[in-house]
Amino acid sequence: MAVITESHLRTEMLKGTLSNPYFVSNNHRLTPAAYDFLRDRGIRVKKLDNHLIEQGVQKQALSIPVGVSNRHVHLSSDHVEVLFGKGYKLTPYRSLSQPGQFAAEETVVLVGPKGSLSRVRVLGPARDLTQIEISRSDGFIVGIHPPVRLSGAIDGTPGITIVGNVGSITVSQGVIIAKNHVHMSPNDARQFEVKDGDCLIVQATTDRPVIFSEVVVRVNERFSLDFHIDIDEANAANLKTGDLVKVIGKNGKLFG
Ligand SMILES: [Zn+2]
Repeated sequence: MAVITESHLRTEMLKGTLSNPYFVSNNHRLTPAAYDFLRDRGIRVKKLDNHLIEQGVQKQALSIPVGVSNRHVHLSSDHVEVLFGKGYKLTPYRSLSQPGQFAAEETVVLVGPKGSLSRVRVLGPARDLTQIEISRSDGFIVGIHPPVRLSGAIDGTPGITIVGNVGSITVSQGVIIAKNHVHMSPNDARQFEVKDGDCLIVQATTDRPVIFSEVVVRVNERFSLDFHIDIDEANAANLKTGDLVKVIGKNGKLFG
C-alpha cells in the first residue's frame, strides 16, 4: 500500500501533472492532509483499477509543451567584451525555460551581405563559443543560408558580422538554423521511454497539424520538459509558446 501525501500532490501541481479528477489506484491511500488539499482546490478523487491508471498516466506523458525561439545569439565572454566593453557582463532581463539560462538586456545587430537584423537578443550566460541562431526567413533578409544544426555543432557553418554598442566583430563561422529538439530530465526520459540522442515524432494539435518527424531528445538533470522550435516552424504549424504537441512515435516509427 503506497501513501500519497500532500507534498507529493504539491509537486505534481508544480509540474502541471495534477489531474482533475485525481485518480487513485486501489493499492494507494491518500493522507487526510492530501484529501484536504484536493478538496480545497475542487479536485475530485476517483478510485480506479491499475490498468486504467496506467492509461491515464500514459496520456499525460505523451504531450510536451512548446517553446518558440526567436533569432538570438550566444556570445563567448571575449566577444561580450569586444561588443559591449572591457570587463562587461551580460545583464539578465528574463529567465528562460531551462534553468540558469536567460535573455539578456543586451541586443546586437546582425549584418550579412544582403541586409541586417536589428535588436537581436543576446542569451546568457556567456558560452565557450559564439553561436548565432536565425530562421530560414531571417537568412533571406541577411543573405546567409546556414545549415540546420544542433546547438554547438558549428563546424563549417557560415559567419556573420555582429555589432554591439561599443564594437563589432566578424565571426568566420557560427550561424545555424537550430534543429528542433526536446529538453527533458532523466525522470521525463524514463516516462517517455527514450534516451539522450533518440528522436521523437511529434504532431501539433492545431488547425495546422504539422508532424515533426525527427525531434532530437536531449536529456540532462538540469533540463525541464520543453520542445524547442524556431519561428518559421511555429508559424508553419500555428504553434506558440506554451501550446502542447502530441508524441506519436519515436526513432522513425509511429506508435501502433
Ligand atoms: Zn533548446
